[in-house]
Amino acid sequence: MKLSLAQKIVKLFSSGSTFEKMMADSMRYRFTCSCGKETSIWDIGGIRYKAFGNPKTSARCTHCGKIAMRTIYKVEN
Ligand SMILES: [Zn+2]
Repeated sequence: MKLSLAQKIVKLFSSGSTFEKMMADSMRYRFTCSCGKETSIWDIGGIRYKAFGNPKTSARCTHCGKIAMRTIYKVEN
C-alpha cells in the first residue's frame, strides 16, 4: 500500500496496532463529491482518528479530481 508523507510520519510514531486502528478510522471518514462518488480521508492521504478537527475541509475527489469544500462524515460498519 502506498502511504502519503503524513501517513508515513504517523506510522513511524505509533505502534502497529495503533496505526491499524487509525488507518481503519481514516477509511471510515468520507465525503461525497458532486460526481456522486465517495472518497475516504485515507484515500486522499489523510489521517483522522477519534474525530478531531474541523468536519469541513477542502479536499480533492480521487475519482474526478475536483477540489471543493467537503463535509466529512463517519461511516459506521
Ligand atoms: Zn468527484
